[in-house]
Amino acid sequence: MTATAGPPSTDVASAVSAAAALLATARDVTLVAHVQPDADSLGSALALGVVLARRGARVRVSFAAPAHPPESLRPLDALGLLVAPDAVPAEPELLVMCDTAAPERLGSLLDRLTTARCSVLIDHHASNPGFGDVRILDPSAEATVVLVHRLLAEMGAPIDGVVATCLYAGLVTDTVGFRTAGPAAHRMAAELLEAGVDVEAVLRPINGDHPFTWLDDLGGVLQAATLDAAAAGGRGFVSAVVPAALMQRYRVEEVDGVVDQLRTTSEADVAAVLKQVGPRRWSVSMRSRTVDVATAAVALGGGGHPRAAGVTLDGDPDDVLARLRAALSRQG
Ligand code: AMP
Ligand code: MN
Ligand code: MN
Repeated sequence: MTATAGPPSTDVASAVSAAAALLATARDVTLVAHVQPDADSLGSALALGVVLARRGARVRVSFAAPAHPPESLRPLDALGLLVAPDAVPAEPELLVMCDTAAPERLGSLLDRLTTARCSVLIDHHASNPGFGDVRILDPSAEATVVLVHRLLAEMGAPIDGVVATCLYAGLVTDTVGFRTAGPAAHRMAAELLEAGVDVEAVLRPINGDHPFTWLDDLGGVLQAATLDAAAAGGRGFVSAVVPAALMQRYRVEEVDGVVDQLRTTSEADVAAVLKQVGPRRWSVSMRSRTVDVATAAVALGGGGHPRAAGVTLDGDPDDVLARLRAALSRQG
């Protein structure tokens, strides 16, 4: 890490101005999203990347895994800024980490946090311990793109249709279709639409376009779901399992929609989907109405937000569910 960035900024406003000053003179910028990137992480990195590239900086955007971004997010890379992780310099001049709740979310690019000459964190996870030289870390922001939007305003960067589309994709998905968005985020959305976002073109590929066979397989997954009304302190817990065979057969666009179906269960405050990512390994997605699932996820080694969190756990599904129930029983 470098001395040029000074000590980590303690408040969001000063971090935003410190980051804007760094980016104003940066000649070479590496922007990284978290592993298994979503629209908020990729949209943040690409929006900022597009602005910097247009200003003449050498820009690359990357993430450690998987090898390719979700199909539905590929159109966000209008300028072709995405590169494979092995094309990321061993010692980046300026590293910008977007929507990364913890250093480990950088995956195999984790070492760049120490080798980078200077690093900027832009994130909104309450569970984030804080890392990097300049830290734009604001858990009150509904999405990381909200913070990128603020940074772009500080930089005096105009927002065109390409940048607006990247920002909108992150905003609409992280707020679950604006359910968790406050007035400022709705104003931001209006500004993005005025800049030229085609809402249906952004959203349909992300969560509204599945192969016919998925209807049958989704039906099987939901049919096997279990409800434990006594769990989560008596507020109810519904869970479902997506086995490896379906993980291989379908895209993330199908699989990640399961939890959105499950969370509509009236009798359950908490919904969890166990996605099989190894013989005995499960990537767990949790959603809640009132229970703090972020604290439960952090207790198990994961992270996230109070109403949407995740963790990766090893064991049989029954073991994993027992650990989730135990962690949830301790949350208010
Ligand atoms: P997901 O269920 O994958 O949509 O994730 C919900 C939220 O939890 C997102 O904000 C993720 O960034 C976060 N999250 C998911 N898995 C993990 C993990 N293993 N460690 C930290 N945060 C996670
Ligand atoms: Mn994310
Ligand atoms: Mn996010």
